[in-house]
Amino acid sequence: MSTYHAWLKDVLPNRYAEQLDQGFRRLSFCGALESEYRAYLIEDRFEIKRIALIVAVLIWSAFAVLDVLLMGAPQLGWILAIRLVVLALVLVFGRLILQRLYPRLLQTLSMACIVAIGLGAALIVAVAHVHDPSYPYEGLLLISIAAYFLIGLRLSEAIICSLIILLVYIALECWAGLPLSRLVNNVMFLLFGNLLGAVGCYLLEYKSREHFLVSNLMRLLADRDSLTGLHNRRSFNRQLERLWRQAQGHDESLALLLCDADHFKLYNDRYGHQAGDLALQQIARLLERVAQRPLDCAVRLGGEEFAVLLFDTPLEQARQVAESIREAMVALALPHEATATAVLTLSLGVAVMQPREGDEFSQLYIQADRALYEAKAGGRNRVGG
Ligand code: GH3
Ligand code: MG
Ligand code: MG
Repeated sequence: MSTYHAWLKDVLPNRYAEQLDQGFRRLSFCGALESEYRAYLIEDRFEIKRIALIVAVLIWSAFAVLDVLLMGAPQLGWILAIRLVVLALVLVFGRLILQRLYPRLLQTLSMACIVAIGLGAALIVAVAHVHDPSYPYEGLLLISIAAYFLIGLRLSEAIICSLIILLVYIALECWAGLPLSRLVNNVMFLLFGNLLGAVGCYLLEYKSREHFLVSNLMRLLADRDSLTGLHNRRSFNRQLERLWRQAQGHDESLALLLCDADHFKLYNDRYGHQAGDLALQQIARLLERVAQRPLDCAVRLGGEEFAVLLFDTPLEQARQVAESIREAMVALALPHEATATAVLTLSLGVAVMQPREGDEFSQLYIQADRALYEAKAGGRNRVGG
């Protein structure tokens, strides 16, 4: 069992950690994670497809030269014609792959390339075997190995391609009349070659899936606060900078709500640090609920201080959101007997800006901080700004 299982239990629940914990021996993830992995795989293995195409065209052409040098006249015409047709197919499929016009078809096109090469090679071997049973068939083994390791296929896709090639090869050799003992020998070698390829490909895909899960989990851990699961300050700064530029470009407004728990030190002193942690988690759930749109973001800035960033939200609407957070906190009714309200409350500061060229995003933060200070100075449990 891998070492990461020991610390998965300490991580806030998320789909990457859950999948790592569940395991994926059958090389498939649950639900939407599988499509996320496949999209990642296409990006990750795109470069290798370019290299594989160049290698395939070079080797295929080199074998054509060998055929010219070694083959007798009657079959040479057929064999060169087959090589030409396959080369044309690979060039057409390869062009479609490299142009990336149809991203959903990238894997299918890669499979089409390797199957075209495999079927072409099987046909050439069978045509040659009609006159010369000693013509080498081992090229088919190289093609299967390429399907498993070189062109970025998943194990199931590589097995489908290799099986098609193997079955067609057997049928063609029966047509060519290859002696049974030779056919059995060739098929055994091809089968064992496929077995080795499949085992290696399984291990590679397993490691690739593990890498996908662990790297996404790492990114999540780096961007999230470990107590509440909200974005952390680092992630917030990045998002603020990104949205600031986007709002500048589109003349849209950006709202920042700063949010601070009232008399939280007293809360901790009275109810204990653990109860304080639970309260912070409940506050986080409230903030998460108002930041549901894709560009919005709820953040734990540190301690008992939070923020909500709302894209394209005017001042009046931002104030309403802040007021709804304050009311929802009162409605939670977490007892805080040391205060006048007798429940734990929040103070919020609201600022909205429509950033123009030359404006700094720190201005938005300073305005919201000032509004929060007003709310605190005004008696807490209120919205400033
Ligand atoms: P005010 O109404 O002026 O905001 O008063 P306050 O007591 O909330 O503010 P202060 O800054 O004096 O205290 C913040 C407290 O938050 C102090 C610290 O014990 C508590 N705190 C900070 N981080 C955590 C945490 O992760 N868990 C818990 N339970 N408490 C925390
Ligand atoms: Mg406070
Ligand atoms: Mg504070």
